Amino acid sequence: MRVVVCIKQVPDTTEVKINPETNTLMREGVQSIVNPFDEFAIEEGIRIQEKFGGEPIVITMGPPQAEEALKTALAMGCDKAYLVSDRAFAGSDTLATAYTLASAIKKIEQTDGPVDVVLCGKQAIDGDTGQVGPGIAVRMNIPPLTYVSKIREIDPEKKTIIVERLMERGKEVVKCSLPVLITVVKDINSPRYPSLFEIKKAAKKPMIKLGLADIGIPENRTGLKGSPTWVNKVFSPELKSVNGEIFQGDPEECAVKLVDRLINLGKGVSL
Ligand SMILES: Cc1cc2nc3c(=O)[nH]c(=O)nc-3n(C[C@H](O)[C@H](O)[C@H](O)COP(=O)(O)OP(=O)(O)OC[C@H]3O[C@@H](n4cnc5c(N)ncnc54)[C@H](O)[C@@H]3O)c2cc1C
Repeated sequence: MRVVVCIKQVPDTTEVKINPETNTLMREGVQSIVNPFDEFAIEEGIRIQEKFGGEPIVITMGPPQAEEALKTALAMGCDKAYLVSDRAFAGSDTLATAYTLASAIKKIEQTDGPVDVVLCGKQAIDGDTGQVGPGIAVRMNIPPLTYVSKIREIDPEKKTIIVERLMERGKEVVKCSLPVLITVVKDINSPRYPSLFEIKKAAKKPMIKLGLADIGIPENRTGLKGSPTWVNKVFSPELKSVNGEIFQGDPEECAVKLVDRLINLGKGVSL
């Protein structure tokens, strides 16, 4: 059983400031963390490997400092890390990111062996699209199982997996063949905190850098050149003042006033 966990390094805030001229994130002074949903993916990857054996692999695509995110995953219990980093990857949109990561995982399969489960978070808290996981699955030609809240069963012999998917109105139980890509929601587990011993041990675990030439993909399929979408404008929506009316006093009288107001507001509105 071989598991690869995809993680993204994100700014430690949901209120990211945007450079109005370049429309890119202003990361100065903002601490970076592992995307919170990816911590659940790391934990699940470690649990699968603890149950079935094997060494969980963690991968990220990003600038050199994304190595810090990989170190966190290694301290939690992953055994090997891949940093997919190259100037050519800069400015990738979700399509180029998914293509580059899928190509990197296929490359890893050539050295480490076939991958059974690829794990991702349900979305990144900065980009927020939730597109990268399914995008990787499509490019690896494996089924995507999104919003997974529980892995019920894995049968390594029959190469099957049964999961629960969190839907708006309940849960969906899906049986699927391996290999598979799973995106996880936070209900799936409680991520462990790395101990001091594990943090020290992590420093000795393999950290392998993969650039454009290592993965062997054409330059025009990644980075800005391989990104058909770009950010035209990023802005915070203006708060519009609402003309509110507050009824005070006896609740029954207020209710009558409210109904009158609603009837008057509704006059002239055709449905
Ligand atoms: C139209 C558009 C234009 C963009 N242009 C730029 C740009 O010019 N410059 C720029 O820096 N960014 C740009 N971005 C952002 C960049 O494309 C995204 O951050 C990146 O593609 C990941 O998408 P996401 O953050 O929405 O991740 P999601 O799809 O929400 O992430 C889901 C999961 O996929 C995995 N994942 C996502 N990203 C990575 C990664 N890098 N490595 C490993 N695993 C990952 C994680 O498991 C994550 O939980 C753009 C995004 C869009 C939509």
